[in-house]
Amino acid sequence: MTQDSCIATRIAQVRQRIEELTLAAGRPSGSVQLLAVSKTFGVDAIRDAMAAGQIRFGENKAQEIREKSQELADTNVRWVMIGHLQTNKARDIARHAHEIQSLDRVELAQALERRLQQEGRVLDALVQVKTSSEPSKFGLDPAELEDFLAYLSNEAPSLRVQGLMTMAVNDDDREAVRACFRRLRELRDAADRKAIPGISLGRLSMGMSGDYDLAIAEGSTEVRIGSAIFGDRSYTSS
Ligand SMILES: *Cc1c(COP(=O)(O)O)cnc(C)c1O
Repeated sequence: MTQDSCIATRIAQVRQRIEELTLAAGRPSGSVQLLAVSKTFGVDAIRDAMAAGQIRFGENKAQEIREKSQELADTNVRWVMIGHLQTNKARDIARHAHEIQSLDRVELAQALERRLQQEGRVLDALVQVKTSSEPSKFGLDPAELEDFLAYLSNEAPSLRVQGLMTMAVNDDDREAVRACFRRLRELRDAADRKAIPGISLGRLSMGMSGDYDLAIAEGSTEVRIGSAIFGDRSYTSS
């Protein structure tokens, strides 16, 4: 089997599994999207995935989005930033990305807003919320969510806020993982009830290769899948 058909096959398998889990959760067919996480993989793998119908790709480094978008300028690829973003890299994202899911603080919103105005662009955005107490996880403190959304509503017209994103705790205890996803849905529901002008939180980005079954059961509208599509990542060369 060539590498090409391997990626296509895995995408088809993941899509089918998403659909099965969606229906098993009593949710409408097609209500959970697939974001293919291509970080560390080269543009050949991305082209193979695009040939299988995938258009949106998640990356966690601004520099990788900048470089890959140049190499794939002949395609209609859509880049989604899912990693921690330093404010001094905001320009790359304002220029090359279609969406950011790791929006987690006022200084970053300010930097993006300024760069987006310079570029004459808008960006879809999800607010990343910390749903576990692990020290290594980035994301907004849930207690600050409503104030942050109000800030975005008033001060960041170039960021189109559409929902929330989280990473679950990295734990063998599946109930602990599931609790993170439930928490994000409850935070979304509570924030939606505040009816902040210009903000509607329809989207919940949660679930990765190892835990997307739990995320879909808890209401995920989008799963971010890397290794189940592209294989194991090797970080040695990056
Ligand atoms: C790498 C990454 C993923 C994908 O993880 P896999 O386990 O490879 O599916 C999802 N979300 C974020 C934020 C990531 O950094």
